[in-house]
Amino acid sequence: MAKKIAVDPLMDKLVSLCKRRGFVFQSSEIYGGLGSCWDYGPLGVELKNNIKRSWWEAMTHRRDDIEGLDAAILMHPQVWITSGHVEGFTDPLVDCKKCKHRFRADQIDGKTCPDCGGELTEPRMFNLMFKTFMGPVEEESAVVYMRPETAQGIYVNFLNVLQPSRQKVPFGIAQIGKAFRNEITPGNFIFRTREFEQMEMQFFVHPSEDQKWFDYWKEQRWNWYLEIGIRPEKLRWHEHEKAELAHYAKAAYDIEYEFSFGWKEIEGIHNRTDFDLSRHTKATGKDLSYFDQERNEKYIPYIIETSAGADRSTLVTLVDAYAEEEVKGENRVVLRLSPKIAPIKAAVFPLVKKDGMPEVADKIYHELKRHFKVFYDDGGAVGRRYRRMDEAGTPYCITVDGQTLQDETVTVRDRDTMEQTRNKIPELVELIGARLKTQAVGAGVK
Ligand code: ATP
Repeated sequence: MAKKIAVDPLMDKLVSLCKRRGFVFQSSEIYGGLGSCWDYGPLGVELKNNIKRSWWEAMTHRRDDIEGLDAAILMHPQVWITSGHVEGFTDPLVDCKKCKHRFRADQIDGKTCPDCGGELTEPRMFNLMFKTFMGPVEEESAVVYMRPETAQGIYVNFLNVLQPSRQKVPFGIAQIGKAFRNEITPGNFIFRTREFEQMEMQFFVHPSEDQKWFDYWKEQRWNWYLEIGIRPEKLRWHEHEKAELAHYAKAAYDIEYEFSFGWKEIEGIHNRTDFDLSRHTKATGKDLSYFDQERNEKYIPYIIETSAGADRSTLVTLVDAYAEEEVKGENRVVLRLSPKIAPIKAAVFPLVKKDGMPEVADKIYHELKRHFKVFYDDGGAVGRRYRRMDEAGTPYCITVDGQTLQDETVTVRDRDTMEQTRNKIPELVELIGARLKTQAVGAGVK
């Protein structure tokens, strides 16, 4: 039985906006939906892709010391025994004997049901990995797992990447890909789902330099959230106490965001020591140590991991951008997304569908389309079109009006200030390009 989700007005509004504007829909909706699986619509896929691209650029293209990887979701089942997931990737599950609601024992206070006060069952350990079968026979020896994290694909490819790239420690491997967890208590829209995407980077360092790189990556990852426009006052650090640390970690810090449902983890930065490479070396007999020529020393590198969720980052950008305000007695809903990640960069409107305005607008649209993701709209009153673009988070709206036909100028409306400037048509590409650039850089700048 599904757990009753507490009413959260902001999340309710956001879920409804996401459906209305085509950001996110429930998976298999016409069949009544599938628990905690979500589909990204036309605007959602653009937003999520822009977030992933921004992460990829920051973590690989802008650096010389990180290589990219795209490993398969299905891996040799032994990998998950070696990594400790078969034995240890479990959550304690309790059921209420009265209302039958289900909880993670570590997420509730006290020994009675938080919903009805009923008696709870003893905790049972529940493995979060999804299983499936490889080949035609559904037998124990054919079991494979849907990866619960992308990290293991990086560890098992450590030498495969190291050798052709000719990298030297310290260096990293980055990967974006799907992960699956059979979560006991999913929910809060795309915050916790059973199928999600991770953006993970594993940085290999000399054991004596782990603290230095741990501090370095903490700072880098914090700054990335500012770069995609998140307000710094909504972010904070959470340090894992000894008891909270995962079996592989020496130290762990989470970046948390203040959602309407509380401060929650959006990314983890972990010092995984030499745990993973040592375990894989032992299990396979393949030596995953590194010979450091400068130090003239052979060692198993320590790993500093940065592990973020693409879906959770998408949710953070939506929540952080959502605003309602009163404009001339009317309620305006606006997504103040950073232009860098906004799904549509500019919309082009003819003021009316006559007097040659659509033709000029169409020409501008096709020219801009060569440079940015743009949208053409000639439906309804111009005020309504502005509102639709506000809800889509589009930073600029360009309108062709009567004056355009005389002097080749258009109005450019800014989503946030709602101010309009008049600009020459041939200057639009440069103008929008420059605004996207300047507004994308800098802490928390929307
Ligand atoms: P939690 O304690 O909330 O279950 P975790 O500590 O197990 O999370 P990690 O294993 O550190 O999470 O995962 C790294 C990142 O992957 C998280 O910060 C989050 O952004 C993302 N992530 C993890 N599980 C999910 C999920 N079920 N749905 C969406 N994103 C997830």
